[in-house]
Amino acid sequence: MDYNFHTHTYLCHHAEGDMEEYVKRAISGGVKYMGFSEHFPLVLSNGKQSPFRMYVEDVSLYRQTVDELKEKYKGKIQLYLGFEMEYYPGNFSRMLENTKAYGAEYLIMGEHFYCPEDTPDIYHASVKTEDEERLRAYTAAVVEGIAQEIFTYVAHPDVLHFVGNEALYQSEFRKICQAAKVHKTPLEINFLGIRTGRYYPNEKLLQIMGEEGAPVTFGFDAHDAQSAYDGASLEVALSLVKKYHLHYIGKPPLRFLQ
Ligand SMILES: [Zn+2]
Ligand SMILES: [Zn+2]
Repeated sequence: MDYNFHTHTYLCHHAEGDMEEYVKRAISGGVKYMGFSEHFPLVLSNGKQSPFRMYVEDVSLYRQTVDELKEKYKGKIQLYLGFEMEYYPGNFSRMLENTKAYGAEYLIMGEHFYCPEDTPDIYHASVKTEDEERLRAYTAAVVEGIAQEIFTYVAHPDVLHFVGNEALYQSEFRKICQAAKVHKTPLEINFLGIRTGRYYPNEKLLQIMGEEGAPVTFGFDAHDAQSAYDGASLEVALSLVKKYHLHYIGKPPLRFLQ
């Protein structure tokens, strides 16, 4: 695996390690194309900033560091500056403008929430739920996000921890797989989930991805330098591709922001 476009940094307050160490580790694993995809900064309606993301005031440091590393490791690895970001219907055009102002070359969608975190009754997608409205809201937002044809891919599409009605799970997640196919937007098998034994990758979704022929890619989702290459999880991911007859496309074509 010579690519990885899902990399965080200490700037999001829940990852660690020097950015250069991530780059060195990736090179040592044979990565040729690497993107930093820090959690996109978001100022909430009360003026505060969402704490699990990088802060607006750190964007210039982020850019500067990626630029320096690009130059320093030229010829060894191709680096890109991106963000992992939610698709919030209604807020997206403003968020997209900001990503461009911040110098982003590409985006991946990570739908940890489906509306801004200061919305009443908001919950993180990882919270177990049987609520069918939440499921519908999540899949509708992801499908609409995919249809923008702006995101390079969808990170951990199975981040919604729905444990309710099985048939509804199937029909809702099938919509995501079909949209992914129509809009040529790959769905990620997330290595952070594999490494740490999370509830994703969810094999129920992999089954549907295989049936629908949705394009599939891989992402290390590194939150520490060691995970900027993850060969152990790669083995697991490749076995899942085989088991569910997934349409694995390898390195996803980057959708460069204009
Ligand atoms: Zn994170
Ligand atoms: Zn994520």
